[in-house]
Amino acid sequence: MTDTRTAHLADRPAQPAERELVIAVDGPSGAGKSTVSRGAAERLGLRYLDTGSMYRAITRRVLDAGVDVNDPAAVAAVAAAVRLEPGTDPARPTIHADGQDLTHAVRSPEVTDAVSAVSAVPAVRACMVEQQRQIIGAGGIVVEGRDIGTTVAPDADVKVYLVADAGKRAQRRTLELRSTSDHDDQTSAAATEEALSRRDALDSGRAASPLARAADAVQIDTTTMSVDEVIDAILELAKGADGERQQASAEPVGPAEPVQPSGSRARLVRSRWRAHPRLIRAMSRFGWWLFHRVFRVRVFGAEHVPSTGPVLLAGNHTSFLDGPVVFGMSPRAAVFFIKSELYGGPLDRALDWLGQIPINRGRPDRPALKRGLALLADGQAVGMFPEGSRGSGDLSNVQHGIAYLALKADCPVVPVACFGTVDALPMGRRLPKWKTRVDVVFGPTFTVRADGDPSARRTSAEAAEQIRQHLREHLTAAAELTGRPAPQPPDAAP
Ligand code: C5P
Repeated sequence: MTDTRTAHLADRPAQPAERELVIAVDGPSGAGKSTVSRGAAERLGLRYLDTGSMYRAITRRVLDAGVDVNDPAAVAAVAAAVRLEPGTDPARPTIHADGQDLTHAVRSPEVTDAVSAVSAVPAVRACMVEQQRQIIGAGGIVVEGRDIGTTVAPDADVKVYLVADAGKRAQRRTLELRSTSDHDDQTSAAATEEALSRRDALDSGRAASPLARAADAVQIDTTTMSVDEVIDAILELAKGADGERQQASAEPVGPAEPVQPSGSRARLVRSRWRAHPRLIRAMSRFGWWLFHRVFRVRVFGAEHVPSTGPVLLAGNHTSFLDGPVVFGMSPRAAVFFIKSELYGGPLDRALDWLGQIPINRGRPDRPALKRGLALLADGQAVGMFPEGSRGSGDLSNVQHGIAYLALKADCPVVPVACFGTVDALPMGRRLPKWKTRVDVVFGPTFTVRADGDPSARRTSAEAAEQIRQHLREHLTAAAELTGRPAPQPPDAAP
């Protein structure tokens, strides 16, 4: 039975650890997506999904029904009523709507002109994304579109973003139109170029999952490349991803906690959104303002947090409030790993919307770590409470996930100590205690060094121990600075 509280997070394709290869190919019109996606799928023996044809089929239906493409409610009603069946054979891609073959009809200039207005309707997108995720299912597929790497399959094993200069794209689209349209279209390349740039502007400018390169997508400029060269480049990336997958299943990365009963497997929590850094910054400022009003907050050492570049914030964990407080007091907007158990309640939409990363404990959660790594590769700040679960905050145990991230991203770590959050929100209380003293102390950055593959348990254990020692030292210094008793590990001398 689906947990309705997490349903919006759980209706997702199976994750990399559980499914076959998924390759996401995004980019503007005419960058060569269809030809190379089909070619790559054929050579790898994978299925192929053209998500553009789905938006086109809805548009065809909207036009045939005489519905105004600029009436979002009417367009959404058509999308909700149509049953789409995209064929996934790369040798013969087809699209049927309610049993009718629209494969050729969706290529008409009329559809091409109207499709961006239809695809900008959020309800249409929600409906398509859900169907696309169902088709992706257990993987083994190349999916092309505009939002595959960012929204439809954010955990795809390979993400490529194809670009090409405008003239080349127009030339390709003109040839494609002439070969696929029933409509004897003799449009000039100049007119096609203008139409393409208009459509790209609409696709990139819409509010709902616009055309965008995912932070971890590999950009390939196809202007001067042959089709085979682009396919070879994708195959090369797929080979690398496959190697990584095999290594990951042989040598799991991440928290080495006991594996939970297999029934819990179906409830892996994944977020859907990657929040915009500006939105995270705005919410972090709001948190700063709010916590300064509710509690008596002191912040020390904020200058230790580098103002640019990738950085990991690592805190001790005693209270549910630690995450929100460190999020608000950090001088850098940061995306935090949040234990998946916190999802499923009233908070999860907000967490999801803010692009926070749910981490599923009790098993190696490689997709979550991969996502953190992508943010670090993009030069962003990522926060973690490496004790894994809330406890005495004594840092007697540090999970391997943070060690893997620090080694793999080769980025500095800022230790963070948080005091007073348990008093501010004692267990069992729903409302925080007004004007409790809360202290947040950022410490000097440190880096982690360990020889060997960061995915190997021995290497990550060694790095985790280094992190634990740094965090403990910082906790002791921070306790002294704030006049607080430092939490003691159970084996500490009395
Ligand atoms: O790829 P193609 O040109 O057939 O896509 C047609 C249109 O469908 C695009 O211009 C865009 O408006 C929409 N589309 C989309 N998201 C996708 C795929 C296509 O919005 N994933």
